Amino acid sequence: MRLKVDAVRCAGHGRCYAMFPDLFDEDDYGHSVAYLDELADADLDDARVAVGNCPEAAIGIEP
Ligand code: SF4
Repeated sequence: MRLKVDAVRCAGHGRCYAMFPDLFDEDDYGHSVAYLDELADADLDDARVAVGNCPEAAIGIEP
């Protein structure tokens, strides 16, 4: 599984990297960057919460 952030949709609210700093970081413009190309099983629940809490629907989990 891969964690992805759509850079076009992301509006830089910061919710994801504030909630899950181990999964996301912010770039110089406050937009989110996903850390992990390979999600560990232990991170999957947190990743799903991040997906559900992004107001721009910018976060996805891909196979
Ligand atoms: S919560 Fe969504 S819109 Fe906000 S920084 Fe994260 S990916 Fe971007």
